Amino acid sequence: MGGNEQKFIKEAFDTNWVAPMGTNVDLFEMDLKTYLSNNVHVTALSSGTAAIHLGLILLGIKAGDEVICQSLTFTATANPILYLKAIPVFIDSEIETWNLCPIALEEAIIDRIKLGNKPKAIITVHLYGNPYKIEEIRAVADKYQIPILEDAAEALGSSYKGQKCGVFGDLCVLSFNGNKIITTSGGGALVSHSQNIKSRAIFLATQSKDKAIHYEHSEVGYNYRLSNISASIGRGQMEKLDEFVNLRRKMQNFYKQLFENVKGVSVFEVPNEDYFSNHWLSVITINPSETNGIDCDDLRLALESENIESRFLWKPLHMQPLHKDFPYYGGNIAESLFAKGLCLPSGSNTTEEEKARIQNVIKCLFKNKIKKKIKVKSLFPKRQRLFEDNMLVNFFTKNRLETS
Ligand SMILES: *Cc1c(COP(=O)(O)O)cnc(C)c1O
Repeated sequence: MGGNEQKFIKEAFDTNWVAPMGTNVDLFEMDLKTYLSNNVHVTALSSGTAAIHLGLILLGIKAGDEVICQSLTFTATANPILYLKAIPVFIDSEIETWNLCPIALEEAIIDRIKLGNKPKAIITVHLYGNPYKIEEIRAVADKYQIPILEDAAEALGSSYKGQKCGVFGDLCVLSFNGNKIITTSGGGALVSHSQNIKSRAIFLATQSKDKAIHYEHSEVGYNYRLSNISASIGRGQMEKLDEFVNLRRKMQNFYKQLFENVKGVSVFEVPNEDYFSNHWLSVITINPSETNGIDCDDLRLALESENIESRFLWKPLHMQPLHKDFPYYGGNIAESLFAKGLCLPSGSNTTEEEKARIQNVIKCLFKNKIKKKIKVKSLFPKRQRLFEDNMLVNFFTKNRLETS
C-alpha cells in the first residue's frame, strides 16, 4: 500500500457505497483514463481474467472460433478462450522482447485461413511488463483484418514510443490482482476506444439488465463489475504508480549491476529506447555452458536455501497438458526461454538489507564457479516436482522474500 488507500476506503464507507458501483469506481476509471490516454474509455472489472472474457465476448468470439494467443504467458491469458469453447492457436515468441513473434503469427494466420477457419482475434501480451513489437504485430493484424486483444495485465506503467501500454489493442486488459504493479486486492479493467463499447461492457458486467421497470433480461450477463471498496484502494494506488514503476526499474538495474561481470547470465533488457518497461519482474537467463554448468534451477535452489523465492518463467501454454490438443506455430524460442529463465525477487518494497541477502547468495554461487551440490530443504527440491506438487501449499515463512 502506498498512501491514501484507507482514506478513500473510508470515503466509500462514509457514503455507504459498499457495492459494485459508486463514485470511487467512476473516479478510479477516470484516474486510469488520465494515466493511459484521453482517447480511451476504461471499465473497471472484478479481475483481469474477467476483462479478457468480456473482451472476447465483445469481439464476438463464439464456440468453434479460433483465437490466436501468445504461448509464453500466464494461464489466465488463454482460459477465457476455453470458457467460450473457442479454439486457442498458440504462437511462439521472438527473442528481442520475448513476446508474440510477428513472423510465426503471419505463418499461423495464412495456414489457418488455408484450413478454412480464419482466426477471429489475436491476444498479445507484454510479458513481465516488456512491450511486445507493437508496430510489427499491428501491421500483420491489419493486413488480415483481425482485431487485437492486448493483455497488458503485467504492463501498467510500461510504454512504447511514449505511449502507455494498455491502449494499443482494439480492446485492452489491465489487472490489479495482488501481485501486479498496482493492486485493488483483486480487480481488472477493460480499455476500449469508444463510449459505446464501454456502455456495452458495463451492461454485460452487471447481469445484462434491459431497460425496464422490472428485471428483464434478453441476454446472458455476468457479475464482473469492480466493487467500490476495491476501487478505493485503486485510487490510492494510482497516486503511487509512477513511484512503484521507478522502484521496479531500480530492481532490474540492481540485477544488471550484479550480473555485469558474470559470464553466461543476462538480465532481460528492452531492445531499444522506443521500449519502456515497468520491469514488473526482473528476469534473467542462464546459459550453463558458460557458467560451468550452473543453471537456473541451481540458482533457484541456492536462493531457496536462504529463504528467498525465485520462480521459473511461465511455462509456455502449448506445453501445458490443458492445451496439448491445440495448434502451435513457431520454433523453440518460448521453450528455451522457459528452460533458461528465472524471475528474481522484484518487489517495489525490497529493502537494502534484502538486496544484500540476494547479492550474497548470487555472489557466492557464481564466485565458486564450480557447480556444488546444494543441500536445501525445499518444497520443490527438484525442478521436476514443481509441476507435480500442489502449488497452494502454504510455504510462506518468516523473512521469506517473494518474487513479486
Ligand atoms: C495476472 C494476469 C492475468 C489475469 O489477471 P487477474 O486479475 O489475476 O485475473 C492475465 N494475464 C496475465 C499475463 C497476467 O499476468
